[in-house]
Amino acid sequence: MLAELEARNNGKPIVEAEYDIADVATCFEYYGGLATKVMGHVNPVPDNAVSLSVKEPVGVCGQIIPWNYPLGMAAWKLAPAIAAGCTMILKPAEQTPITALEVAGWFNEVGLPPGVVNIITGFGETCGAPLVQHPDVNKIAFTGSSAVGKIIVKQAADTLKRVTLELGGKSPNIFFADADFENAIDGALFGVFVNQGEVCSAGSRVLVQKSIYKKFVEAMTEKARKVRLGPPLDRNTKMGPLVSREQYERVRSYQELGKKEAKVSLGGNRPKEFAKGYYIEPTIFYDVDNSARIAREEIFGPVASVIPFEDEKDAIKIANDSPYGLAAAAWTRDIFKAFRVAKSIRAGVVWINHMQPTYVEAPWGGYKQSGIGRELGPWGIEEYLETKQIHINLNEAPIGWY
Ligand code: NAD
Repeated sequence: MLAELEARNNGKPIVEAEYDIADVATCFEYYGGLATKVMGHVNPVPDNAVSLSVKEPVGVCGQIIPWNYPLGMAAWKLAPAIAAGCTMILKPAEQTPITALEVAGWFNEVGLPPGVVNIITGFGETCGAPLVQHPDVNKIAFTGSSAVGKIIVKQAADTLKRVTLELGGKSPNIFFADADFENAIDGALFGVFVNQGEVCSAGSRVLVQKSIYKKFVEAMTEKARKVRLGPPLDRNTKMGPLVSREQYERVRSYQELGKKEAKVSLGGNRPKEFAKGYYIEPTIFYDVDNSARIAREEIFGPVASVIPFEDEKDAIKIANDSPYGLAAAAWTRDIFKAFRVAKSIRAGVVWINHMQPTYVEAPWGGYKQSGIGRELGPWGIEEYLETKQIHINLNEAPIGWY
């Protein structure tokens, strides 16, 4: 039922929505377990004292989330905050509040005290900003665009709130000539077209070694031609419409820009077979220069920019030449090269021979302008905790200073 609501509200294919909702359940299950494993520490101070580090909830948390994984993003914020003992006010994206509101009703049923989880709905400037500025809110956890992330940091400055940010990306998906070719083509498409490309870690810069470049672009184009667009609730649909008119127009404008900046091997328009709906053709631009806007700016739609590279050094240089640093992937059968690349890339997540798998047990977050802090795993709960030192004097004599 939640998957269906999510698909209807967001436009994503129902099959993908079902995976998302299963991940939501796993997230609550994981943090339910972690709630009893929040540990303090006995600090190694001299014998005349005992020094303890204890963890305490950060307090009242404002949580602001985007529309691309509506309930998934809500779970990543609510589950660790509840486990840490915080209270929270979550503001879903104005485009997709439905599933968070539905689940909020269930918290009463499972016995969470009233007032622990609060959901407010509204627009960013009128509903999100007051939360960020409010003196009684102790922390803001934000997921969204880097542009709004910068506004959040400035708004939070007056009250010096704790702020964690999960922001955008322009992630490189790097294909070396020695990669398994069929897996590579699959990985290139999955990296950038899953969820209509409305993915923060989308592999939207497809870096391909020159020796396989021509063959790669042809094979990628041929396979992408078969991606089935359709209504979100049709189980055969692999790509639904975008979330809103605003997002549709934004992506369309990048399609037009791309035609001026590079060559088109596929798409570039709205699909002819759909007269209505915010559908976008899967689009592949190639011979893209990394300085082009379609290689630097987050498009957040099914648009790939294919960039050729010479060798490993060149690939790393291009991959790191971005204001973002959320994620990256490299495809190769050479374990030494794989590790060298993984260690050289300035990004919070590096996949080898895959792109996009995300586990609740593993950290998630960005380098550079892709964010501050980490979600998921023990890192996720840590962001909702303060550390207090308690010092107990074992010396019964006076301090004796004066
Ligand atoms: P957005 O930044 O426009 O909006 C995100 C949220 O911020 C919404 O709830 C919005 O209402 C609110 N908001 C907007 N202006 C605000 C303001 N002035 N003060 C307070 N709140 C405000 O982003 P979006 O279009 O909803 O989502 C897409 C973006 O989210 C992409 O950049 C994507 O990369 C990013 N994202 C990042 C991650 C991650 O884990 N790093 C995950 C998903 C999405």
